[in-house]
Amino acid sequence: MKVDRRELLAGGAATLALAGSRRGADAQAPKPPKAVLKLSSQEGIIPGRDLAERVAKMEKWGFSGIELGGDAGRRIEEVRKVLANHKVKVSALCVGTPGGTLINDDPKVRRSAVDAIKELLTVAGELGSTGVIVVPAFNGQTKLENREARPILIDLLKEIGEHGAKVNGRLLLEPLNRGEAFFLRQLADAGAMCREVNSPGVAMMGDFYHMCIEEPSDMGAFVSAGQWLHHVHLASRTRVMPGQDDRDFTNGFRGLKTIGYQDYCSLECGCKGERDMEIPKAAAFLRDQWAKS
Ligand code: MG
Repeated sequence: MKVDRRELLAGGAATLALAGSRRGADAQAPKPPKAVLKLSSQEGIIPGRDLAERVAKMEKWGFSGIELGGDAGRRIEEVRKVLANHKVKVSALCVGTPGGTLINDDPKVRRSAVDAIKELLTVAGELGSTGVIVVPAFNGQTKLENREARPILIDLLKEIGEHGAKVNGRLLLEPLNRGEAFFLRQLADAGAMCREVNSPGVAMMGDFYHMCIEEPSDMGAFVSAGQWLHHVHLASRTRVMPGQDDRDFTNGFRGLKTIGYQDYCSLECGCKGERDMEIPKAAAFLRDQWAKS
């Protein structure tokens, strides 16, 4: 085919004009709200005899969220009773692969996963939680490869999202590093899945530990997640407390500020040293990183 260069150039000019008008539309879009740093922690990280003692410590250290495990459904009354006397609220429920793996090669396993996740979304709604953290499959848990797994997952997420919207619960996709999961490693990929499903019941999160391995830019990753980002895990490069090694959080926090992030940043990490001493230090370090970002 013969290409007329003049036509080609005219086409290029039209494309540029369109891009310009899009930029104009973006400029008129409402500004995101001012981002907030709301610190949370997984329950098991906080030393204490019981939930009440842990929550009291967290409040003293300036935390505003607690992340619970998959047993939250059996503890609704206990959790409500303890939190009634505190400012700390339930952040996310971290459950991994409840009922089986969503992208298993066996449809029966996939069905069992969907049913278990729907139940947990109902629990999340009852507890006012941000969402239920789910991993589509860890390495070795599926025989499907990426191109087979993805459309299957999107269909299941649509069904889960419909249920989530009804019960005010939300699934949170968690990208992991390649050592733990070959499927879903980057935040931009999770964001693209959320956009495709387009349901208030399906969103995503980012984990600073995995991001350190997989993302070329923390800020770019959070900005690409944008409106779909509803939870963040905090851990250093070597997966101990933030501030205990050389991991920098300012670039990622800049990304959270750019998108006007309103949800929790939650500790999911080990600890070098005495937790009662090191956790408040990590909280102070994170507040300082936030201020610098
Ligand atoms: Mg995590």
